Amino acid sequence: MDLLYYMTVSLLGFILSLTTFIGETTRALSDDVSSPCKASGFLGDIALTEDDYEREMIRARHNREQYRRRILQERHTRTTGARHHIKKRTIEEAKVRHVRAVTARPERRWTDAVIPYEIDGNFTGSQRAMFKQAMRHWENYTCITFVERNPANSEHDNHIVFTYQACGCCSFVGRKGDGAQAVSVGKNCDKFGVVVHELGHVVGFWHEHTRPDRNEFVGIVHQNIVPGQEYNFRVLDAAEVDSLGETYDFASIMHYARNTFSRGIWLDTILPRKDPESGIRPEIGQRKHLSEGDIIQANLLYKCPSCGRTLLESTGNFSSPEWPGQYDGDQTCVWRISVTPGETISLQFTGFELVGSDGCWYNYLEVRDGHWRHSPLLGRFCGASLPDPILSSDSRLWIELKSSAHRYSRGFAANYEAICGGHIERESGTLQSPNYPDDYHPSKECVWLITMPANYTVGLSFQSFEIERHETCIYDYVEVRDGHEDTSPLIGRYCGYFIPDDIKSTGNKMMVTFVSDGSVNKGGFSADFFKEKDECAQPDQGGCMDVCVNTIGSYRCDCRPGYELSSDGRRCEVACGGLFTGLRGNISSPSYPEPYPRDKNCVWQIVAPSNYRISLQFITFDLEGNEVCKYDYVDVRSGLNEEGTLHGKFCGNEIPETITSRFNNLRIDFRSDNTVAKEGFFANFFADVDECEEGNGGCQHICTNTLGSYTCSCRNGFTVHENLHGCKESGCRREIQSTTGIITSPNYPDNYPKRKECTWHISANPGHKIVLSFDDFDLEQHQECTYDRVQVFDGDSDEGQVLGRYCGATIPDAVVSSSNHMFIRFYSDASVSRSGFSATHSTQCGGRLEAELSAQRLYSHADYGDQNYENQESCEWTIVSPDDHFIHLWFRSFDIEHETECNYDQVMILDGDNHAAESFGKFCGHRAPDDIVSSGDSLMITFSSDDTINKKGFLAIFKLTDGELLEGAGEEEEEIYYN
Ligand SMILES: [Zn+2]
Repeated sequence: MDLLYYMTVSLLGFILSLTTFIGETTRALSDDVSSPCKASGFLGDIALTEDDYEREMIRARHNREQYRRRILQERHTRTTGARHHIKKRTIEEAKVRHVRAVTARPERRWTDAVIPYEIDGNFTGSQRAMFKQAMRHWENYTCITFVERNPANSEHDNHIVFTYQACGCCSFVGRKGDGAQAVSVGKNCDKFGVVVHELGHVVGFWHEHTRPDRNEFVGIVHQNIVPGQEYNFRVLDAAEVDSLGETYDFASIMHYARNTFSRGIWLDTILPRKDPESGIRPEIGQRKHLSEGDIIQANLLYKCPSCGRTLLESTGNFSSPEWPGQYDGDQTCVWRISVTPGETISLQFTGFELVGSDGCWYNYLEVRDGHWRHSPLLGRFCGASLPDPILSSDSRLWIELKSSAHRYSRGFAANYEAICGGHIERESGTLQSPNYPDDYHPSKECVWLITMPANYTVGLSFQSFEIERHETCIYDYVEVRDGHEDTSPLIGRYCGYFIPDDIKSTGNKMMVTFVSDGSVNKGGFSADFFKEKDECAQPDQGGCMDVCVNTIGSYRCDCRPGYELSSDGRRCEVACGGLFTGLRGNISSPSYPEPYPRDKNCVWQIVAPSNYRISLQFITFDLEGNEVCKYDYVDVRSGLNEEGTLHGKFCGNEIPETITSRFNNLRIDFRSDNTVAKEGFFANFFADVDECEEGNGGCQHICTNTLGSYTCSCRNGFTVHENLHGCKESGCRREIQSTTGIITSPNYPDNYPKRKECTWHISANPGHKIVLSFDDFDLEQHQECTYDRVQVFDGDSDEGQVLGRYCGATIPDAVVSSSNHMFIRFYSDASVSRSGFSATHSTQCGGRLEAELSAQRLYSHADYGDQNYENQESCEWTIVSPDDHFIHLWFRSFDIEHETECNYDQVMILDGDNHAAESFGKFCGHRAPDDIVSSGDSLMITFSSDDTINKKGFLAIFKLTDGELLEGAGEEEEEIYYN
């Protein structure tokens, strides 16, 4: 989070024309496709769209293609002596992480410079006020207008949402164009200047230091950059950026600071060049206000009229240029008046003279009731008579003065005033103190008279509150009355810094009065009002089965003691769980098949007669979670208390296999947390006599009880006889591909047969070794193990190196193969027989791999393709060349949990055979590293995962190369970016 903060605490911008970058969705986003913050990638605090991401992919491929051509060309002219040079070039090229493409894209500009916004509900009143101040800061100096989004207005389809997403502080650059786009404001960046910076990205700014000409103005100190963050300092192509002719702006709020992404706070990553005249390095990284350069750039980008401005004060006056003298013809001027929401604007003309024409065709002054040129027209004026005063219906006015060439006029002068209070007959809206969120003015009195349709009441909910404090609120205060008269019952008089509780009228009218005296002014208040109804007073009691409790804006149901609210929030049901003693029955999650309620804990206990076993068979199953089962889960135990043997802990939507109790009782626990609820589960249980209990069910080896029956099976080296109970000897050569399992000597745990030979060949994916650890061991003893023995070979047959030769009764140490094959042989002679052995085989990642001229594979984990990788993987592979070749490595698929800095799961590639070697970078997410060529004869790959979220992993391909990167790589090249 600190890093993100520093990065955002950087500065300056140049206008962007647009493009993009790379990265990945973050953990919080990846599950939510509809999230407005869903980005295909991030560049620092800049989020990238899917398009941008695609474009980057195409560009990367294009670059590779060009690179391939150049390498082939150079090969033609190469001499032996030039080889080193070629190699070096190849390495550098291989390390390049390509920069986006694309030229200026006008569609990234917001139409008419209007940016609709929404603020997520979970920000505090003071955070909301600060966002508004940051937006007003932009409005004050540019023609950009931020308007609260009206979902019914299709012009507002593209809009920004202030939200808090996992990226911390981030934003798209410019208008994304497909609906909501996030401006994420995280914990460490809810500062005015940082929000102004993020809004700079929204407006269309990239970071200033990525301008193509930046090297003339700043130097980058690469060795001080946090490893892996170098790409934030890349320069954009001239074709991608349009600085609109403006010079480099050290003071821009879009410029990084000197220590952004620094290894240490005191180390410079960007060093501004000294001013040639003063010899002083300019300051960079301010996060206080827009610089002059920012303002000029934004006004150029949005082609803001050079004449006119935005008026944000609650009173003011303005006039045409040169008033009362004549102004030049052929001009357009626009003034935008924006006062506090809840106020209206009274506009008075004090002087007016425009050359008249039919319909005011040539010269005119237009006043519109709203924030832009399409708002309803209140008047179009020309001639010499003074227009009548104008009153807005809301808090904004748009005034445009247009004059044609060669027609000189004096123009106009006007003043305006914000008027607070008034009659309100809307079903919902916002009331704010004048000048909110800035301090209210002295000696103000505003009276709002709210009327709702008959049969409804008025609800009022304060969002922020800061009014001069006094014991009895005699100076500044807000007063609420239950009706429209001064004599209506007083609901409350409020002042100070605590947000008042929600308020409700008894009838359909409410009066809200705000009064400030002549001194001490504070931030004031913001309150939402809405149509309110007492649902519990309705004949159906709001649909509540038992008890209805009215709340502001809503209501909730409650239940009598002994009952619980079902997940529909209305019905009451008997509390879940219970004790069952029947031979069969069923249980289900509460409210099934409706989603289960939150925060539930149910316990079922099933007891059967003593020679019985209980089987639990799930018919449907759908719980929040997946693998980890931290949130909602079902766990099943043999026994009646929590100490019983656990059969399993289940969540997700995979139906658990049938569970059979060890004895005659079973306990099932269901827990749900306070978030996501799913359908839950339904399960049947049966109590059944355990046929295996008596005489092993007649089975010679193994008896397994099943519902209503039982089956016999045999130990290793034997198969079930035709009579289904006995066992007979069978061959014992086994090929094992599973990543883990148990192997035993024939007839184990009984004595092995005489004159028997068994073999096991265990293989794993390349890059994974086989580990064999003995759990039990007892073979006829002999000094050289000449009689009975177990031999382990390193490789796929008994021709491999012998890893061990064992007999006697000592359990041997675990053995590990050097590659992905192990071969095991068991041999018994004609005499003495013992119980034999049982051993567990598993895999271990990492090791040394020798590259060859033909391509070889390396998988992230042994069961790649069948399963995601595991938690807490920690693997290290060294790929070496047998001679003086280089190693070429690329990825055919890549899917690692994403995090902006790859701090959770990560793949790292090093240019050598140890950790001190230079790194090619840290990788995660979906984007595979680019092709890599070692500069020496080895490469090291490390892969690690944390304790949550597992992905598909990767498949890497490697081979020897003499430096000609792409020759012979063939069709695999084209697949690099898939997955
Ligand atoms: Zn930024």
